[in-house]
Amino acid sequence: MTVILEQEIKFLPGVGPKRAAILTQELKITTVAELLYYFPYKYIDRTKFYKIREINETLPFIQIQGVITAIETLGEGRAQRMVANFYDGENQMELVWFRGIKFVKSTLKKNFPYIVFGKPTEFNGKWKLVHPELEEVNGEAEKKEGYIQPFYNTTEKMKSNFLVSKSILKLQHTALQLCKGKITETLPHWLIDQLKLIPLETALINIHFPADPSTLRKAEYRLKFEELFYIQLKLLHLKHERQNKFKGHIFKEVGDHFNDFFHHHLPFELTGAQKRVIKEIRKDTLAGKQMNRLLQGDVGSGKTMVALMVSLIAMDNGFQACMMAPTEILAQQHHQSILKLIGNLPVNIKLLTGSTKKPERLIIHQQLLDGSLNLLIGTHALLEDIVEFKNLGLVVIDEQHRFGVMQRAKMWRKNYLPPHVLVMTATPIPRTLAMTVYGDLDVSVIDELPPGRKPIRTFHYYDNHRAELYQFIRKEIALGRQIYIVFPLIKESEKLDFKNLEEGFEHLQVAFPLPEYRISMVHGKMKAVAKEVEMQRFKNKETQILIATTVIEVGVDVPNASVMVIESAERFGLSQLHQLRGRVGRGADQSYCILMSSVKLSQESRQRLETMVATNDGFEIAEADMRLRGPGDLEGTQQSGLAFDLRISNLAKDGQILQYARDKAEEILASDPLLHNPENNILVRQLMALRKNHLNWGAIS
Ligand code: ADP
Ligand code: MG
Repeated sequence: MTVILEQEIKFLPGVGPKRAAILTQELKITTVAELLYYFPYKYIDRTKFYKIREINETLPFIQIQGVITAIETLGEGRAQRMVANFYDGENQMELVWFRGIKFVKSTLKKNFPYIVFGKPTEFNGKWKLVHPELEEVNGEAEKKEGYIQPFYNTTEKMKSNFLVSKSILKLQHTALQLCKGKITETLPHWLIDQLKLIPLETALINIHFPADPSTLRKAEYRLKFEELFYIQLKLLHLKHERQNKFKGHIFKEVGDHFNDFFHHHLPFELTGAQKRVIKEIRKDTLAGKQMNRLLQGDVGSGKTMVALMVSLIAMDNGFQACMMAPTEILAQQHHQSILKLIGNLPVNIKLLTGSTKKPERLIIHQQLLDGSLNLLIGTHALLEDIVEFKNLGLVVIDEQHRFGVMQRAKMWRKNYLPPHVLVMTATPIPRTLAMTVYGDLDVSVIDELPPGRKPIRTFHYYDNHRAELYQFIRKEIALGRQIYIVFPLIKESEKLDFKNLEEGFEHLQVAFPLPEYRISMVHGKMKAVAKEVEMQRFKNKETQILIATTVIEVGVDVPNASVMVIESAERFGLSQLHQLRGRVGRGADQSYCILMSSVKLSQESRQRLETMVATNDGFEIAEADMRLRGPGDLEGTQQSGLAFDLRISNLAKDGQILQYARDKAEEILASDPLLHNPENNILVRQLMALRKNHLNWGAIS
């Protein structure tokens, strides 16, 4: 970077100390370079008036001239929308409003000439402008300046200090003048030539002052590619580095433990996907390099079995294994179900959690050290320094998004050579996000559920249909089934009118009176022992209804439970809803998920619930989630800090560029793993600069 770009923002003409302080505080802009990398969030193309027939998906915000021929309000309540027919002299298109309908309606004039601005969106094969900006034509329209107008996000604080979008644009102009001819290239020339990218300086100029729509697109492409490319290069570089640094334990043989289990204990046929994943892991553990693999598989896809079988291979090779779960309930459940599966196999398996009693702890510590303990299952308690192994070869981390990076790193240090690490998650995330957030891991996917599962049927009921819900529950209980009812909060947040667990419990006791109906309750504030007792009662069918907060979200397995009722479902995120739904549908019975919500729903909540009703596919749901909320908010992504540090790329839309960037990065590292080739000097320099700017780089996977 040139000196001028590193210059403090306060010295840029037109800024000064006060504005500089605001820019830093509100937008984290401290240097001229950071200003130049603060990109517009939208553009309005005022270079020309478009015709409706010219609309295509590559256009930014556009302007069209025409008249409104009809206005109509459709739908009821929250689903209400207003649609105006807009005619450009040749064709019609719809303008749509979901909010502020009353106001817009009172201002719209029929058969009056307007210029409408907006980003065209396609819906059912037709182009529409949603919430367009409107300007009345009063004879001057034709004289509009011919430029593409950029818009920058600004905050309230900025606005009240007269730092609006236009002021930012002015500053960009000053900055670009100052830096003219001095912006050095940040990608190798051979790569720029190969991909026919435009130079960095041209890209920066055009992102702020686009010459025309086509140059703007090229500028966007160049900057998006570069952004995604360096993230991928960094992740893959990290992965290579790690693989070269650490030799891995070699699991040479598949021995008696595995074979005995496979032939005599396995209660079902493995699915094709399970077999494939075991093979993938087997290959990793033979390669002499440390495995770092993410196993993604929808809820109920049978990840635990894969983990167990790989643990058996570790044991066959004289290694110990451990399995860490985020909650006590889950760890206990793994322990119990694995003990049951293992039967009389000669392996020593123990459970270590926060509530393991001291005498038992001492035994565990001792047996870990002398090597007689083969598999340790537990919670965060496994992380403690006092938990030392004789020869740990494999670490399985279940529901890994619940653990921090540092915690995972801690497990690495439990052997002189780091153990192989298998992290598992049932929170599917979109592929593009996985590539970014887990870009330094190898990924296996179980994309097949065990046979015989009937798809869960999902319904959405409004609160005022509670009587029907209760009737349904009674019917299912009469059939011998069990019911989960989940509430979002344990304590009502003072003013909000959400049904909380305790209130719900009282309510249910009335609706489902003893002795015919018995109800268990678990929540986060209960002692572990009490929780376990209640869970056991439900598992043993002593109670038919389990009411709970989201403590049951991850991993609980009670095959006879066939109905999941989620109260105030609008309060939950999509991935959480999907996780909860995954608690049922584990047996052979038809299972149901019932989403209860209030009648008043925001547009987004409605879409979430509709998505749940429409599909059972975790990956589809993850994609929808990303579209609705943006990548930064998705569960499991926050800790990486990458997904939402993106300045220009959008993981929901730029999947192709991302894939391309990753392929390129892989290609480069394959031919020049240490980046020693002088042609690639620039890559090393940029990676180092990135390390400085992204504090989170240390926190990858
Ligand atoms: P998850 O991937 O959500 O952790 P689990 O490992 O808890 O899923 O498995 C869900 C249920 O499916 C368990 O009861 C498990 O015993 C069962 N299961 C796993 N694999 C198979 C299979 N291949 N065939 C039939 N049932 C299976
Ligand atoms: Mg699981």
